[in-house]
Amino acid sequence: MEYNTVIIGSGVAGMTASMYLKRANISCCIIEKEMPGGQITRTSRITNYPGIENIGGTELAMTIYKQVEALKVPCIFDEVIEIEIKDDYKIVKTNTEEIKCQNIIIATGKSPRKLDVKGERKLIGNGISFCATCDASLYKDKKVAVIGGGESAFKETLFLSKICGEVTLIHRRDIFRANKTLVERVKSKENITILTNTVVTEFKENDGKLESLIIEENKTQKELKVDGCFEYIGEEPNTRFLSNLNILDDEGYVNIDKYFETDIKGIYAVGDCLKKDLYQVVIACSDGAIAANKISN
Ligand code: NAP
Repeated sequence: MEYNTVIIGSGVAGMTASMYLKRANISCCIIEKEMPGGQITRTSRITNYPGIENIGGTELAMTIYKQVEALKVPCIFDEVIEIEIKDDYKIVKTNTEEIKCQNIIIATGKSPRKLDVKGERKLIGNGISFCATCDASLYKDKKVAVIGGGESAFKETLFLSKICGEVTLIHRRDIFRANKTLVERVKSKENITILTNTVVTEFKENDGKLESLIIEENKTQKELKVDGCFEYIGEEPNTRFLSNLNILDDEGYVNIDKYFETDIKGIYAVGDCLKKDLYQVVIACSDGAIAANKISN
């Protein structure tokens, strides 16, 4: 199989790049390891995309995906495991095939960071969640925990407190990254408890479902019974498969120039796998358009 450009990731950045390439008559495909749409499919409402007053994240993703399908951009559902650079072309290797191309656009986005403690992996989707918007309704009037001390942990704690019976926020320090006003609002809620200088060391299950957390404060361990747990401990770019290319910074974000091209000619990166001050749909779309335009010219 051969294309001029292979786009890795079908979030809004990757899909926008494919639209601009196809309209410029450049052959391209998208490779996606999950469902199309990327991170906005985990966002309930988008209210700041120009021209659209209010739309569900998944609905916006599917509308863009329909545009991509109408342009007959092939979408291959597979995972990229490696990129190999040859003298005058590149090979994108997936679990099942090798695709030859001139250009690559990396649009793999970010994913929630995980605690990486005992019991976690098995219970993701069975009590452990990374998206309160998606899963809060599963815990109506029940007991949940939120892990983290940043803006996301506090915002989502507040949101969960309106639906769940009890919310326990667990943070590893006693200083929060979240802004003071938000912290005060959380502290004022009767059904929220904040545990500081506390870490989660294990997730325990009963019959395949989360039953409790083992938490530790000052070397003393306790068991905290919960029905659900939401982890908000930051995000990581999905770029591990690029580690052999020497195009990543210390945190794993891709380094690029003003046209979104890396130090390797013909390899571009767009969207949330880049280090930015502001992560927004409109910005990710713009990145994709600029990189595609550079390839087309
Ligand atoms: P964040 O600011 O990086 O906070 C992550 C939190 O998780 C920190 O409190 C950190 O603790 C904790 N943490 C990290 N690794 C951990 C581990 N292994 N075990 C236990 N705790 C761990 O992430 P975020 O809250 O997702 O926010 C990311 C960015 O988005 C920030 O710039 C934030 O301001 C922005 N944001 C903005 C809004 C908005 O509406 N404006 C909403 C959400 C997020 P330490 O503090 O000890 O490091």
